[in-house]
Amino acid sequence: MDQRIRQAVARSILSKTSGFIAEAGFTHSLTPARNCTFGCTYCYVPTMRVQGGLQPEDWRRWGQFTTVKSNAAELLRRELRASQRIYCSPLVDPYQPAEAEARIMPGILEALCETPPLVFTLQTRGPLVLRDLELITRLAGKTRVRVSFSITTNRDEVRKLYEPLCAPIAERLNVVRALREAGIEAYVTLAPLLPCDPEELARLAIEASARDLIGDPLHTRVAKPRGATTREAAVYISETRGFEKWHDPVYQAAVGERIRETAEASGVCFETGPLGFARLAR
Ligand code: SF4
Repeated sequence: MDQRIRQAVARSILSKTSGFIAEAGFTHSLTPARNCTFGCTYCYVPTMRVQGGLQPEDWRRWGQFTTVKSNAAELLRRELRASQRIYCSPLVDPYQPAEAEARIMPGILEALCETPPLVFTLQTRGPLVLRDLELITRLAGKTRVRVSFSITTNRDEVRKLYEPLCAPIAERLNVVRALREAGIEAYVTLAPLLPCDPEELARLAIEASARDLIGDPLHTRVAKPRGATTREAAVYISETRGFEKWHDPVYQAAVGERIRETAEASGVCFETGPLGFARLAR
């Protein structure tokens, strides 16, 4: 195995939800690994530290390695119940780059197919999700499956600044189209909203998914004094590139309104926060 991929035997795989994800309606979260090799500069997870189940090396070296739960599928077989609404994952992208080699998700999807929960939602930005399309389609034949695909800007030069290890925007839009063509309920999640042309981003996302849009601005201490927040690395990029206003709640609200107007003109909705994510848990 790659040096960046470590293995650990976990004690459990499903966690009862709280906060944002619980408010959206999910009963459980499924986190297949600790630390995410996409390493986005704004990622909230390392700012949660121990509250996110992380170890000091995870938050100090965020994105440089990952620790996969090698017994994930086995644990899941024991913990799955038909009434669960599962969100995968609030703490790591299940299709992070390391998953290409680690291959934890196929076993998880097999276990889900054997004992389907009420709802299963994959939150990802990884084109690698298409590797498992056959399994995801099989699961969708047994229960409600959603893929919530993150697209944060329409400007690829912005993507390269804030999330250089993530796939280009055009490729991500193509993944949403491919999921949709395969009959999978695929949403575009505009979260966090990075510097962008809001109308163009909304138009591209609606064209790809033909569904409601879900979004969230960059977290800021002004609007959210406690809990997970935007990493310093992204704040530094914004300050040095003239993008500070994208952290200003008043400007963020105006951007949200522009996206909402574009969405409504196309016959779909745009919602932020738990209200937006609630359509993934129904
Ligand atoms: S993909 Fe998600 S979990 Fe992974 S580093 Fe980026 S924001 Fe964090």
